[in-house]
Amino acid sequence: MSEDYTPMWKSLGMDLDAHDALLGVLGQGYQEIYLAQKNRPEGMGYFDFVMSEVHGLRIKELLDEKKQNRKIIGSYCVFVPEEIALAGGATLVGLCSGADFAVEEVEKHLPRNTCSLIKSSFGFKLGRVCPYLESADMIVGENTCDGKKKAYETFAGIVDNLYVMDLPQVKSSQGRSLLKAEYERFKIAVEKLTGNKITVESLKEGIKVVNAKRAALHRLATLRKADPAPISGLDALLANQVFFYDNPARFTESVNKICDELEVRIKKNQGVFPSKTPRILISGCPMAVPNWKLPWIIETSGAVIVGEESCVGERGTRNLTEDSGKNLDELMEAITDRYFKVDCAIFTPNQDRSDHIVEMVKAYGADGVIHYGLQFCQPYIMESIPVENKLEKIGIPCMRIETDYGMEDVGQLKTRVEAFIEQISD
Ligand code: SF4
Ligand code: SF4
Repeated sequence: MSEDYTPMWKSLGMDLDAHDALLGVLGQGYQEIYLAQKNRPEGMGYFDFVMSEVHGLRIKELLDEKKQNRKIIGSYCVFVPEEIALAGGATLVGLCSGADFAVEEVEKHLPRNTCSLIKSSFGFKLGRVCPYLESADMIVGENTCDGKKKAYETFAGIVDNLYVMDLPQVKSSQGRSLLKAEYERFKIAVEKLTGNKITVESLKEGIKVVNAKRAALHRLATLRKADPAPISGLDALLANQVFFYDNPARFTESVNKICDELEVRIKKNQGVFPSKTPRILISGCPMAVPNWKLPWIIETSGAVIVGEESCVGERGTRNLTEDSGKNLDELMEAITDRYFKVDCAIFTPNQDRSDHIVEMVKAYGADGVIHYGLQFCQPYIMESIPVENKLEKIGIPCMRIETDYGMEDVGQLKTRVEAFIEQISD
């Protein structure tokens, strides 16, 4: 890190010793998983820098924004519309929840058999190690799975700025009305928080900024269709992870720069792995920073990941928001339309998701799918069975993995992944 941020972390009330330990583990993991890769695009240097400053420079930027009276909103789910936050003059950051922390303390509040993602969100707060959480003026939770819904009831007693957004569970007209009403309520809450009235112009601008971020990732995804793959799945995942907390304009520019470089690579037939390397689509639970375990196992076992059917991936960024509305209501309708298409496993039924998995397999030329379920995540683990059946019917091999954030099962997972890669290589 370029400067000593200790006073800044101290001012946020963080536990400095625990935080040092976290940064130590994060830095070492990054070194071993990311920097050890070969043939990386030069443009990934930007993301290496972002990661080295993840708790430093970006936090300083957010605190500088706060000094200018800008509010920071933290969110745990892709259903929280960044367009509305930006339109109200706030900055939205994703709260990552990708590592175990303060487990003993967490288990005083949550049952042991809670998914790692929820446990991690508690661990980062209880351990006072996340400067994003500590900088947030408002934390948005959402009623998605039962685990999150009930956990937020407890979380409300731990933080004093939790806002809970209700979400539909069925894609019916009533479900859509609920989502629209909740987005209207969120818009009012953002206006109250920031003191700014959201206007047609500011909402259009918010839509434009977020669409540009998504479009850059769409461009990146399209380039991954090439064989040899011009970028590793690990690096593409990192770009999808950084999507959630970087400055939006800078992020868009940096991803587009990588895409320019990848276009040249593709023309020269250069890849990150040799041509005909087995191609994997990952599907399932979101992988938040620094959850790189499974992609790392896959890409050090002889395969390349060519797409992520995940909220930290294509499920989260799939569609753009229509920006042609002439008044606030038309724009809010467009935002609702866009988000109502997100096919999270909390919806029932959820046919769109398995259709999208098949579409993605075909679009990215995947040889097989690895379904990633976090232990105790009922929505995704339950869906993994019909997903596997559907894929098998059309001749696409699928392997279902259930794991957590721990490293104890790495050897066992690697053996299974290697066997799967051998199977799809025939
Ligand atoms: S998987 Fe569902 S609950 Fe989780 S971030 Fe995605 S949309 Fe939200
Ligand atoms: S991983 Fe599954 S159980 Fe955990 S928060 Fe997401 S949907 Fe809920």
